[in-house]
Amino acid sequence: LSERRLLFTNPVLLRDWKSPLRYLFGPGPSNVPPRILAVGAKPIIGHLHPEMYEIMNDIKRGIQYAFQTENNMTISMSGSGHAAMECAVFNTVEPGESVLVAVNGIWGERVAEIAERMGANVHRMVKTPGGYFSNKEIEQHKPVLFFLTHGESSAGLCHPVDGIGDICRKHNCLFLVDTVASLGAAPIFMDKQNIDILYTGSQKALNAPPGTAPISFNERACHKMFNRKTKPVSYLFDMTHLSNYWGCDGKPARLYHHTGPVSGFFALRESLAILAERGLEESWKKHKEVAAYLYRGLEDLGLKLFIPERDLRLPSVTTIAIPDGYEWRELLAYIMKHHQMEMTGGLGPSIGMVMRIGLMGYNCEKTNADMALNALADALKNCKKSKA
Ligand code: PMP
Repeated sequence: LSERRLLFTNPVLLRDWKSPLRYLFGPGPSNVPPRILAVGAKPIIGHLHPEMYEIMNDIKRGIQYAFQTENNMTISMSGSGHAAMECAVFNTVEPGESVLVAVNGIWGERVAEIAERMGANVHRMVKTPGGYFSNKEIEQHKPVLFFLTHGESSAGLCHPVDGIGDICRKHNCLFLVDTVASLGAAPIFMDKQNIDILYTGSQKALNAPPGTAPISFNERACHKMFNRKTKPVSYLFDMTHLSNYWGCDGKPARLYHHTGPVSGFFALRESLAILAERGLEESWKKHKEVAAYLYRGLEDLGLKLFIPERDLRLPSVTTIAIPDGYEWRELLAYIMKHHQMEMTGGLGPSIGMVMRIGLMGYNCEKTNADMALNALADALKNCKKSKA
C-alpha cells in the first residue's frame, strides 16, 4: 500500500477572526439585539427533545400572533426567506397548473422563476419597480395561485392587500403573500384579509439572525396541498413531512425528517417574544413615525424619495432616487468606509434607480435615522459629482 499523507490545513483557518461591528441600515439583515444574540449562544439540545418541541410550539404561537392568524398549519422553515418562497409554491402548485405573479421588483420575478422551475404555467403581470396593481387588473386572470409582495424591498413599496383575497376566493385561486420585508413594520392581517399562504423572514424587523422563515397555510391551502396527484419536487420542503415535524398533522408522534437549526429556532422564539411584548400596533406605529422622520431629513438634504405616494411607501425600507450627478456605488462605499454603515443600491430591476435605507425593528429609532442622514450628508459633500 502506498503511504497516505495528510494534507496541511490552509493557514488562514488558524488566524484570529473577528466579525466587525456594522450599522446594518440596508434592507437586511438588520442588527440583532443582545437579548437575541444571547439565546443564540445557549447550549444546543436535540432537535427532537421535548424542550425543543415546546420551543417550536411557542414559535408557532408567536407566528400566529405576528401574522394575525389562527391557522394550525403554521411553522418555520429551516432556511431563509427563499426556503419559504419555494415551500409555498412547491406544495400548492402541481406541474402544468397556472400561476399568476405580480412583478414590480425582484421578488415577483424570483417567484415566477421558482414556479417555472417546478413546471408551472407562469403568467407575469409586470410593472416597473415601484408600480402597483389594481384589484381590477388582478381579477382578469384565472390561476390556481396568485403571488403578491406586500413589502417590495427592492423598490420600497408597500402594496395594498385589501380586497385581493376576496377576489382570489371568488375564482378558487390561492392568495400567496410575501411579507419578508414588511412583517412587524406594516399592518397585515392574514385571516381578515383572506390570505391563504403568508411567509416572512427572520432577519428584518424580527431582528433574528438570517436562516429561519415563518410560513402559514390556511384550510384552503391545506386542502389543495394535501390532495395533490404528484409529490412536491422537494423532499426537504414537503409539507407532509414538515407538518409532522412541527406537530401540526394531528399524529401522536413527531418523526425525524431533518435536523432543524436549533440555535436559529432559539433566536426566532426570542424575537417573536420581543414582538409579542412590544405589541404589533406599537411596532407598526414606531416604523411609521421613524420613516416619516427619515423622509423629512432626506428631503432636507435635497434628496428625492423614489415612491412619490407617501401611503405606498414601505416603512421598513426607504428608497431614494439616486441624486443627479452622483455615482451611487461611490456614495455607498464612502458611507461603509467612513461610517461603518451599510446602505445599499437597488436590486434586480431597481439597480441604478435607487439607494435603500432600512431601519427595522431594533434599528428603527430616530437616533439611527439621524446617523444615517449624517452619513449621507457627509457622502454627498465628499463624493465628487461625476456626471454634472
Ligand atoms: N422577499 C423579500 C420581500 C425580501 O426582501 C427578501 C430578502 N431581501 C426575500 C424575499 C428573500 O429572503 P432571503 O434573502 O432571506 O432568502
